[in-house]
Amino acid sequence: MLAELKGLNEECGLFGIWGHPDAAQVTYYGLHSLQHRGQEGTGMVLAKDGKLSSVKGEGLVTEVLTAEKMQTLSGNAAIGHVRYTTAGGGGYENVQPLLFNFQNESMAMAHNGNIVNADQLKSELEAQGSIFHSTSDTEVLAHLIRKGGSSELKSRITNGLNSLKGAYAYLIMTDTEMFVAMDPNGLRPLSLGLLGDAYVVASETCALDIVGADFLRDIEPGELLIINDEGITSERFAVCKQRSMCTMEYVYFSRPDSNIDGINVHTARKNLGKQLAIEKLIEADVVTGVPDSGNSAAIGYAEASGIPYEMGLLKNRYVGRTFIQPSQSLREQGVKMKLSPVRGVVEGKRVVMVDDSIVRGTTSKRIVQMLKEAGATEVHVLISSPPIKNPCFYGIDTSDKDELIAAKKSVEEIRELIGADSLTFLSVEGTVEAIGRPFEGENRGQCLACFNGKYPTEIYSDQEIDFIKC
Ligand code: SF4
Repeated sequence: MLAELKGLNEECGLFGIWGHPDAAQVTYYGLHSLQHRGQEGTGMVLAKDGKLSSVKGEGLVTEVLTAEKMQTLSGNAAIGHVRYTTAGGGGYENVQPLLFNFQNESMAMAHNGNIVNADQLKSELEAQGSIFHSTSDTEVLAHLIRKGGSSELKSRITNGLNSLKGAYAYLIMTDTEMFVAMDPNGLRPLSLGLLGDAYVVASETCALDIVGADFLRDIEPGELLIINDEGITSERFAVCKQRSMCTMEYVYFSRPDSNIDGINVHTARKNLGKQLAIEKLIEADVVTGVPDSGNSAAIGYAEASGIPYEMGLLKNRYVGRTFIQPSQSLREQGVKMKLSPVRGVVEGKRVVMVDDSIVRGTTSKRIVQMLKEAGATEVHVLISSPPIKNPCFYGIDTSDKDELIAAKKSVEEIRELIGADSLTFLSVEGTVEAIGRPFEGENRGQCLACFNGKYPTEIYSDQEIDFIKC
């Protein structure tokens, strides 16, 4: 479903390149392909002639990095960021990369994820005299690095990273090198590629494809890459704890043409749809997906069930960002602006409507209503993931349990609320099986905390949460 309607949003996307004469332009295209990961802030820091310079602003890539602006940018290395506002709130000062100019060094930093002990670290650092320029959790690492004294930068970064808990993929750039770090659980995706002789790092492999880079590998949990003009080296700053890639990256966040740990996202979604057909076969006339992220699972369900797949819902691609409004009443209006039922497809039909997840339930209710108003005789809702019963503390904006309908209501109560003829969620086991990650263990190396409440890291919250301690 459409991110801004669902109320389930990714925090951001990262792109970095080292050793390319058109680093600014390549980063622009990389960020553009990661736009789905964040639409509220865009930024880029470039390294040129021993100096770092920053351009950033609130808005989409094309709004911030305009054609005129791009003509003024050059450098042979860059890191870039697209942001959705969660931890720390919005505002220009929180748009990344953050650039720090100290007396003896400059450093730019971009982050995807959420540092769960940021508040504690911030209090400690402020008590020791640190002055924060943003309200984002990302900045904590910069202060930890500076506090490391005069030792070499790499060991200060390593020590700083070891103080953090939670989910983080970090890009840190100076005028001489770029550091790439992944948290010890590997919660967020980050891939390494090669474009000519230049190393490229991106939150999703679709960005590597767009800029024409060859995929080399995914960044490992607890890994620190150091990229400079001499080449690339890899070190471990922490042992891999419990490998825990975010399941929602496969279900919903990532682009279908991206691969995560060797698994194509569209294929994973199709398999989730096929698994739904194994777990619940409905007697119906057509299967339709809620665009865009429900489409792949709908195709999978149709293939496995033998019920024809049809485009029963149409997405209006020309609705601008101005329609993205956070209040409930405007969000409901937003559904109509962005999705339309195709009457000729659904009229007089028993419709299976496949979507990836339900957060608040209000959007599902509107879509079911639209399909019925368009003449569907029955609407059966199938969800290609388990009920989201627990908040996410790792960079997805579902940190308030009160907003999650599945935390408060049974499946039957949700069905009644959304007005569907039936409602089925995929099982947790079926989700793990269908994605089929190439790792051992019950979870196959993925985080399932929003479904089963088993958090792979310590969390720091006043909400009542169970967590599994590594
Ligand atoms: S809690 Fe859910 S959304 Fe958050 S990282 Fe884990 S699987 Fe992803």
